[in-house]
Amino acid sequence: MSAQSTDIHLRKLRMGMVGGGEGAFIGAVHRKGALMDEQIELVCGAFDEVPERGRAFYSKVFIDPERAYGTYREMAEKEAALPADRRIDFVSIVTPNHMHFPVAETFLEAGFHVICEKPMTTSLELARQMRGIVERAGKVFVLTHNYTGYPMAKQARALVQEGKIGEIKKVIVEYPQDWLLTRLELQGQRQALWRTDPKQSGPAGCLGDIGSHCANLVHYITGLEIDELCADVTTFAAGRLVDDDVNVLIHYSNGARGILHASQISAGEENNLKIRVYGDKSSLYWSQEHPNYLYLYAPGAPVQIYRRGHDYLSPMARLAARIPPGHPEAYIESFGNIYLAAAASIRAAESGVEPAERLDHPGVEDGVRGLAFIETVLESGRTRQWTPFKEF
Ligand code: NAD
Repeated sequence: MSAQSTDIHLRKLRMGMVGGGEGAFIGAVHRKGALMDEQIELVCGAFDEVPERGRAFYSKVFIDPERAYGTYREMAEKEAALPADRRIDFVSIVTPNHMHFPVAETFLEAGFHVICEKPMTTSLELARQMRGIVERAGKVFVLTHNYTGYPMAKQARALVQEGKIGEIKKVIVEYPQDWLLTRLELQGQRQALWRTDPKQSGPAGCLGDIGSHCANLVHYITGLEIDELCADVTTFAAGRLVDDDVNVLIHYSNGARGILHASQISAGEENNLKIRVYGDKSSLYWSQEHPNYLYLYAPGAPVQIYRRGHDYLSPMARLAARIPPGHPEAYIESFGNIYLAAAASIRAAESGVEPAERLDHPGVEDGVRGLAFIETVLESGRTRQWTPFKEF
């Protein structure tokens, strides 16, 4: 093995992964996103809840078999005992939702930085506890609300911050999918199985899975906080134990009105996340399925289209692009951008030296806000009342 610098600014960060084993969905996306900028290397993992399958996975990701662990606890213990120039810098948690908290707690307490999938936990109470653990550990905590990693989401945020939109009056965000139109979980489909089991997904189904992305994206672009909301939470598939369709009316703190709709039973839809932000000067429109274009509408003027990769974009939007305009960048790069930002945060935390420029990423506060959103929507759906946003 060639010698590697011990200076954290001159070497790759060492990443471990919990979850993301054979047949898993998002773990492979994380690995591609994390590794694409040559800042990070995968060195170990506890990839599966079945220890033998997790250990065998070393041959698929080409890591040292000794470092494909049977359980996440064994991984935290053994990695913490390795010399500083070998052990991981951070762990990436890509398990079903109910495991986020115990795994994050274990690694934070063992002294590692954490990148965690959303929703951060399965309850607001656990989310608040997580915030306390992160504060006490003094470690970096990154939440992969990856839609904030798209260059055009960053451009939308910059336009709002520049005042281009004016005072925001209304936000419409929607995320329809169709993949749970039938009871796929009864056919044993892995991703459907745990997402429809409240013991693993938490009390929210579609709401936690993709509604949480909608709420996070609105907050990221507009900075608006929710005052109160009125939700209609439905389970269309007979016998399913969690929601599969959610419609929410929202009052934001500045008086703006919002409509948020997430659905996994909308026939023919793929991943049709869209956001419209209406201000008193102009309006924005962005669609995740055509992510390299951001539309600006103003009364009496032609439509303006911001396109990824151009010099006229905001610094954050420019930093988030890799290749020339017109060559599409999308989902995997959005994770790449979260990992780039995470790597910068970890290097800064370890060395005390901030880079001259860097991308932003969601963190533990976004996770707590996300769980407050989920619990407020569920309560409003149950009581059929306008409900104040929960303290978080
Ligand atoms: P998945 O079922 O495809 O994969 C989960 C993996 O976790 C599997 O490899 C499983 O073996 C492993 N696992 C379960 N328990 C474990 C344990 N105790 N120890 C080690 N490994 C364990 O699920 P998925 O669709 O990849 O979702 C995983 C997480 O990612 C969820 O929290 C989900 O909400 C989130 N997610 C986020 C996005 C996004 O766009 N940001 C997209 C999909 C999923």
